[in-house]
Amino acid sequence: MSERLVVIGGDAAGMSAASQARRRRTADDLEIIAFERSNWVSYSACGEPYHVAGYVDRLESLVARTPQQFAAMDIDVRTRHEVTEIDLARRVVVVRDLDEGRNFFTGFDELMIATGAKPVRPMIDGRNLDGVHELRTLDDAARLRQIADAGTGDVVVVGGGYIGLEAAEAFCVQGWNVTVVTSSPRVLDRTLHSDLGQKVIDAMRRMGIEVVLGTYVECINGTNRVESVGCSDATYPADLVVLGLGSEPEVELAERAGIALGATGAIAVDDHQRTASPGVWSAGDCAEAMHRVTGKPVNIHLGTIANKAGRVAGINLGGDEAVFPGVLGTAITKVCDTEISATGLRLAEANAEGFDAVEGRATGTTTAGYYPTASEITISTVAERRTGRIIGAEIVGGPGAAKRIDVFATAIWSNMTVQDLAWVDLAYAPPFSGVWDLIHISARNAARLALA
Ligand code: FAD
Repeated sequence: MSERLVVIGGDAAGMSAASQARRRRTADDLEIIAFERSNWVSYSACGEPYHVAGYVDRLESLVARTPQQFAAMDIDVRTRHEVTEIDLARRVVVVRDLDEGRNFFTGFDELMIATGAKPVRPMIDGRNLDGVHELRTLDDAARLRQIADAGTGDVVVVGGGYIGLEAAEAFCVQGWNVTVVTSSPRVLDRTLHSDLGQKVIDAMRRMGIEVVLGTYVECINGTNRVESVGCSDATYPADLVVLGLGSEPEVELAERAGIALGATGAIAVDDHQRTASPGVWSAGDCAEAMHRVTGKPVNIHLGTIANKAGRVAGINLGGDEAVFPGVLGTAITKVCDTEISATGLRLAEANAEGFDAVEGRATGTTTAGYYPTASEITISTVAERRTGRIIGAEIVGGPGAAKRIDVFATAIWSNMTVQDLAWVDLAYAPPFSGVWDLIHISARNAARLALA
């Protein structure tokens, strides 16, 4: 008799796991049913800001595979079906069919929890007014694009994280007056050092985006529709509010079922993506992953991690063996022409984790200085004192700057030192870098400090 795998959550982690399990086990051996409460499966949330901006016209192009394509792989995907309970003792889930309004039970042998993350919502007056939106689901992106296309006005983006900044770019290029308000003294504060963050703020202001730091949103005003946002420093007019206050792992279902959470508040998993409950697996934004520099569990919400960890779960569910090797939290984004990226630990984090760390800085140009597209780039390299082992890096700069972070991610992954990196045979031609890339120079500066 065949076993049944039930997947909760039909996006990156869940559908990667389902696909990998199916490659290894036929439908006679393993039935796979995936429940997804939204209208979409296997979609790219990462592409949503670029749909709102108008760079990507068709929303459907953000969908990697449709339920029909999964059906052709013998994976039964049910959209608009929400799992409301997991009963581990009886090995069933309770599912609500959101269109029919009825509940039913489905049994499972194996369970994959891939419920992702949910946006942090401020408990303030006016949060439910018309014109107050989040940018999380494809439906959110579709609504915001309709609004952007219908005219222009004042938009207040609440939050200075990468989703807030990507939303700010989207409305800026669509001709809106954009104000970003954040309680933090800087933007991208989980990614960048304060002074590198200042370069991003300066670039946003040059584009006409107003950035208000260190202010708290107290209320959203309006009768039916939003009219303004009341902050601790001032009231900002708003025809539209986009909330971008970060996200937290969606774990209530797992927690209620008694599945163990880790210290981060996300679902605890081992390096095979097994939870502490037999036959229950998890991956993606709702699950922890091991940080390769600190060796500690973290809960970082990135599509890169969700896809890889989901794949590992699926390979193991399919009867082969895979080990998830951990993460560095490598992330990249842009606001118009300013690119931002980071990997590993920032200097302050490294020191807080007990590393005796140094930071090498270098500022130069993305291409040869004389080349017409040259723009400024700054790289910060964090290394361990004495050994020179690379443990983090951050980059801010013009077009072509940020993908250099992959060199640092590879170097950290391979336990390289700044002494090595300063001499690595990197490619050079004037349209791409100087003959000494800024990577070399920042590594050399870090080596000088590390070995002093
Ligand atoms: P999700 O993608 O959140 O999927 C979980 C799914 O589970 C959801 O579809 C949800 O509806 C469903 N679900 C939850 N509970 C239930 C339930 N009880 N029953 C049924 N279904 C349920 N990452 C990057 O690496 N690079 C980027 O550039 C980037 N940009 C982003 C831009 C935006 C606007 C957003 C919102 C995210 C971005 N991310 C980016 C993050 C990335 O999208 C997520 O890390 C990734 O989607 C996580 O995949 P997941 O499968 O774990 O969770």
